[in-house]
Amino acid sequence: MTAKILDGKSISEEIKNAIKFEVGRLKGKGVTPGLAVVLVGDNPASKVYVKNKQKACENVGIYSEEYKLPESTSQEELLTIVDRLNKNSKIHGILVQLPLPKHINSDTILKAINPSKDVDGFHPYNVGMLMIGEPVFIPCTPYGVMKMVEHSGIAVEGKTAVVVGRSNIVGKPVALLLMQKNATVTICHSKTKDLAEVCKNADILIAAIGKPKMIRADMVKEGAVVIDVGINRLSDGSLVGDVDYEEVSKKAGWITPVPGGVGPMTITMLLNNTLEAARKSAEGL
Ligand code: NAP
Repeated sequence: MTAKILDGKSISEEIKNAIKFEVGRLKGKGVTPGLAVVLVGDNPASKVYVKNKQKACENVGIYSEEYKLPESTSQEELLTIVDRLNKNSKIHGILVQLPLPKHINSDTILKAINPSKDVDGFHPYNVGMLMIGEPVFIPCTPYGVMKMVEHSGIAVEGKTAVVVGRSNIVGKPVALLLMQKNATVTICHSKTKDLAEVCKNADILIAAIGKPKMIRADMVKEGAVVIDVGINRLSDGSLVGDVDYEEVSKKAGWITPVPGGVGPMTITMLLNNTLEAARKSAEGL
């Protein structure tokens, strides 16, 4: 069997076209969606992500502001900037790029963002709303995974889903979303025993680990939907996922490439959340 490709690039183009149209309509009503992206320090991967996010905003007509702060920025200084952005009516979404330097407490910063501008969906209020099934902003990567599945016409209800990884930004929320779509979900992590055996039960297997090519063909059920969230840079500079694509694509029913799978969907859902934030603020005018 050769897996069908879950083409995040082309699905995200479709969604971006719809977003662009909606941004235009909102502008017609006098509201331009605005996103502020805050980057602290010189993490090369973060710099690339921030640049891509800004470019994506530009392409759909979303106004964006970038705050590039030195590594030495104090927590107090960062909190002051977040507070200013919370009060800025041109800004509907605030994204503080993670990871932050060690001397800054990420939780404190994320909690300082007004939940109604928290387009990453990391504020405890938004995490809680997602937990009780009344999401306001769904974190962009898990949201992108679910949209991709939906766009491809893959049924989730009644399926056995296995999520490898339990981070707050990917593993846990994607597991919740799958459960809310009526999958039966197992979450695995570094202490899981017999990972291969658990994975082999999965109709839908999500890898969010951060370990290059860790998911091998012998861990995958024939015909499974395999979604690779991982982005790992090898020493030769190439990017690979957490799934051994070459092996697994011969056994899975569906598979995401890396790059070109979950990555473009993540940015697209950020645009979507910023549009939603602007829409909600326009309703409140
Ligand atoms: P993370 O916070 O480091 O979490 C990794 C998870 O994998 C942890 O729960 C960890 O278990 C688990 N794990 C590690 N080694 C394992 C093993 N040998 N067996 C089973 N589980 C294991 O990472 P993350 O932020 O969720 O990101 C995961 C990957 O997705 C990274 O490659 C990241 O770059 C990528 N990512 C991509 C996007 C995108 O847009 N495509 C967005 C976000 C992240 P413990 O909890 O037990 O430590």
